[in-house]
Amino acid sequence: LFNQVQELKGNIRVMCRVRPAPSNDAEGQVAQIKYPDVDKESKEVELLGKEEKSSLGNVTRKKYPFTFDRVFGPECQNEEIFGEISQLVQSALDGYNVCIFCYGQTGSGKTHTMSSADGMIPRATRQIYESASNAKEKGWSYTMEGNFVEVYNEEIHDLLGSSKDFDRKKHEIRHNDKQTIVTGLETVPLTSANTVEKILDSAAKNRSVAATKSNERSSRSHSVFILKLVGKNSTTNETSEGILNLVDLAGSERLKSSGAEGERMKETQNINKSLSCLGDVIGALGQGKEGAHIPYRNSKLTYLLQNSLGGNSKTLMFVMASPLEAHLTETLTSLKFATKVHNT
Ligand code: ADP
Ligand code: MG
Repeated sequence: LFNQVQELKGNIRVMCRVRPAPSNDAEGQVAQIKYPDVDKESKEVELLGKEEKSSLGNVTRKKYPFTFDRVFGPECQNEEIFGEISQLVQSALDGYNVCIFCYGQTGSGKTHTMSSADGMIPRATRQIYESASNAKEKGWSYTMEGNFVEVYNEEIHDLLGSSKDFDRKKHEIRHNDKQTIVTGLETVPLTSANTVEKILDSAAKNRSVAATKSNERSSRSHSVFILKLVGKNSTTNETSEGILNLVDLAGSERLKSSGAEGERMKETQNINKSLSCLGDVIGALGQGKEGAHIPYRNSKLTYLLQNSLGGNSKTLMFVMASPLEAHLTETLTSLKFATKVHNT
């Protein structure tokens, strides 16, 4: 049923999550966002712009209403978010290529939602492991393998490889007609529900190696968790091949190249390029023109995800919104980007 509903809606969905204000911030700094009550399944979120004084001296704020497939308010926990996506995750076991992104500025809650110990990566992995185990009764056996990479400065780094190779080893992306292969990656078989802890630990180690070089690297790189699921049914001889990609994107804040030099400028240009390329790819797919050119090759991220964007695949983007007044401009920019994606 889920697949039917999804197909009616189109294969790209966008949901918004408004994070709570950090507790150490004074109340005055909290921006004006109207979000749904915790118990309401809502699709609306409204942002109030900066204070403007009219000629009569009245203070007004411009209203920016947005509609997405679902909006989660600040009291919402990761458990509830996962409840909303668990069927989508499940469809990777049924042979779909699924891609879930978190998009938003640094500090808006992408990593909390996606890659934290309580986030979508461990939740999805455990669910897949359990469902695959249960499917044995019906004759299904699955080979399940995980990769975890970081895309930084248009280069791929292996979060599961040995730390000493992290910044040295080169990895190339290759496509054959069905599969995406990244050369030289460490692949971890999903052999128990707890494998994911080892994966997260190993990734954390490699991230800390990277952090010694640049503190901000984690917000300036995309991390992509890839789970490949190949199933065979010994009773019916059916086969299935699905992929689940869980993507914690680089901070979407507008980075100005002016003033930045050298490495920093390259970094900035690469982030801007890959995020706008992601928007272009989704936009081109949304037009639905057969045989249209889709610019996957314009960035490493979209090239890596090529087989999971478009075609028969299912895409979900979480746009993360911060409730702080200081973040207003960036939040607005994120919500506008997400609206474009939603409308494709
Ligand atoms: P990003 O990855 O977008 O830069 P993080 O996920 O690292 O942002 O969030 C920044 C900080 O805010 C972290 O300390 C995180 O734990 C906290 N945080 C983010 N979202 C939430 C939330 N929904 N509830 C509680 N804390 C959150
Ligand atoms: Mg982060």
